[in-house]
Amino acid sequence: MPCEVKPRFVILYGSQKGQAQSIAEGIAEEAEEHGLVADLSCLDQIEKYNLEKETAPVVFIVSTTGDGEPPDNALQFVKRIKKKTLPPDHYKHLCYALLALGDTNYANFCNGGKTIERRLQELEAKQFYATGYADDGIGLEVVVDPWLAGLWKAIKGALSKMASDRTAHIKENAADSAKTTSDSSIPDVQLNLLSLTDHQDCESCVDTDSKFASAASSSASAVSDLRPASSAGSSGLASHSRGSASVFTSAPQAQAVDAEVLHVELAASLTCSIPPLSESALNVPALPPSYLDVSLQEVDSVEEIGGPFNKETIHNVPISGAVQLTRGDSVKTALFLELDISACPMMAYRPGDSFNVFCPNRAEEVDNLLHRLGLQDQRNYRVNVTLRKDTTKKGAQVPAYIPQSVSLLFLLTWCLEIRSVPKKAFLRALAEHTGDSVQKRRLQELCSKQGAADYNQYVRDPSLSFLELLISFPSCSPPLSLLTEHLPKLQPRPYSAASSCLRHPGKLHFVFNMVEFPASSGRPAGRRGLCTGWLFDLINPGLVFPGKAESSGSTALPKIHVSFRPGCTFRPPSDPSLPFIMVGPGTGVAPFIGFLQQREAERQKDPEAVFGETWLFFGCRHRDRDYLFREELESFVSRGTLNHLKVCFSRDDRGEEESTPSTPQPRYVQHNLMLHSQQVTDILLKHNGYLDAKNMAKDVNETLVEMIKTELQVDQLDAMKRLASLREEKRYLQDIWG
Ligand code: FAD
Repeated sequence: MPCEVKPRFVILYGSQKGQAQSIAEGIAEEAEEHGLVADLSCLDQIEKYNLEKETAPVVFIVSTTGDGEPPDNALQFVKRIKKKTLPPDHYKHLCYALLALGDTNYANFCNGGKTIERRLQELEAKQFYATGYADDGIGLEVVVDPWLAGLWKAIKGALSKMASDRTAHIKENAADSAKTTSDSSIPDVQLNLLSLTDHQDCESCVDTDSKFASAASSSASAVSDLRPASSAGSSGLASHSRGSASVFTSAPQAQAVDAEVLHVELAASLTCSIPPLSESALNVPALPPSYLDVSLQEVDSVEEIGGPFNKETIHNVPISGAVQLTRGDSVKTALFLELDISACPMMAYRPGDSFNVFCPNRAEEVDNLLHRLGLQDQRNYRVNVTLRKDTTKKGAQVPAYIPQSVSLLFLLTWCLEIRSVPKKAFLRALAEHTGDSVQKRRLQELCSKQGAADYNQYVRDPSLSFLELLISFPSCSPPLSLLTEHLPKLQPRPYSAASSCLRHPGKLHFVFNMVEFPASSGRPAGRRGLCTGWLFDLINPGLVFPGKAESSGSTALPKIHVSFRPGCTFRPPSDPSLPFIMVGPGTGVAPFIGFLQQREAERQKDPEAVFGETWLFFGCRHRDRDYLFREELESFVSRGTLNHLKVCFSRDDRGEEESTPSTPQPRYVQHNLMLHSQQVTDILLKHNGYLDAKNMAKDVNETLVEMIKTELQVDQLDAMKRLASLREEKRYLQDIWG
């Protein structure tokens, strides 16, 4: 009997925080339903794929990180394809589609994917499906869902085109056997471009063709399961609803109830939906296959590890100083930390560099989670994680960030981001472990296509953590293996150096803003960011407050784990004689303090050397509450290290000193830039100068385009091109950390 060979295609992903990876895995899992075989690899698994010889369509899913760089696990790939020695038609045989993930709140939107795409095209690869640029700023799914919906048709189209081209090629060769051709490459593939603006088309195939399999065809649930619990005769969600004003009543029922009940406002919340969603049939994602076996073993003792795992690259350094830079009545709290790195020569840094701080999950949250999972008595048991032999998950692996032979407490404290915002696939899996039918239905809604707006409103936008979700859905009891499969790696948090080693040998300074999350549905009280809250608690006893010159001196500050972050592109000009403009509002000024300290030390070392003009545009709310580094900046000016300090205060009545009745008071940094438009554009366009903008890349970008338009009398497109070439020349650097 002939054996059917399913057509194959390749999926390659580059992922920093797991989003691109999970989309890639979702595609691989769905392939079989479409009669296809998917070869899934991470871009750094070079032994698993070979693009030089690839004859099947290739789908790239690539995220963006840092200053618009590809993710760490795609860096080597990008380096390889960027090699100048590659022939110009190196990828002529390749057919690809690409989904780029990014965030428009950051500079260089989707640049990881764009970098790869640009190079693929230069090397003559053929695109078989329009590239998707998904924006985490508004919700990745807005682009990802229709892109995935149209992908299958495009892959099939590419496969059949490639097959018919190959057949034609063979026939051609056979017909003209005398004529041998040395060109064995596959002929051009006709592009099967589906524009993402063809939304109609995409939408129409979502139910039948996409990852959001309709409930009827879903292997996991039947439509009847996904009907509202109220219509299935379950107890109404009103009894579970946390908001007093919330009731769960379907529209027909609502019409029937008496006038008194109608006074109660219908309100949705994290745990409660209202019509039409509460009455809708749902299209939920396919249930992700489980792939890990996690067992707990009682042991006499587990090796006690008091910090993150990868000891070789991580240094445990003492905090040698901590100062609150903002006044108590300031809206944001900015804190300054000094680390003593004198014992770590590996941590030698240059201005512009950043480094990672490794923070644990909060002890009380880990405790809550252990209780919630019923594992509080097993906290010191050893965790054994292995791959399930029967898993159907493509490319399944035990995640590298889960070490062997650690205790459950260690796993939940240092390895898994228990505060991560649950993705829809995780919600889908959690629903399977939820006993109460009303709560189960709500979890299904939140991961469904119909509930996308609720997911954004109650989960994504407020950054609802996994633990907060678990507390809001008390009948949800997931096994430890599910958490291990779905919770991402607990990532270290990067911070920018705010000092120069020349000025402060053996010391590393940084500044951070306390991140505050307000209360929301599912979060009864606000909470602090994980790392900033942890740092604050660590330093609080020894903190020096504004106005108080010295700390008590008696409180010893603890040590923290840090590592150096290589590959920084945010630098002052290498030629110090060139003029240099720095733009950094709020804590964005921190790296520029390092730049200026370095320059001052260099000037002192070589008084004869020529140094270009320096400008700093800084902005904050109030002169007397949150003007960070005021004294240090003013002394840079008085010593001639900083030539122009332009400061504005967005909430003070009085503006910057230079404002006159005829010119409006600059409130924000971009207004101030505009006021000095001619000098700034001259520096950039006539004097080969540099501009580094920290923490407000989008506004600066738009302002610079306006300024170039006005100064050069060119149109928008030309101005954007001029700015793009400045960026290419690395004379305009942008960075933002949110
Ligand atoms: P988390 O618990 O991780 O929460 C932060 C996340 O929540 C972010 O995704 C944010 O978008 C989101 N969020 C924040 N507030 C809210 C809210 N109110 N509601 C909903 N969601 C919210 N930070 C500095 O302060 N100083 C620096 O010098 C600095 N340098 C950096 C350099 C680089 C290269 C990068 C990439 C980042 C830098 N950051 C810096 C940011 C820093 O790494 C952390 O992200 C930040 O301190 C928050 O960490 P956290 O663990 O406290 O917050």
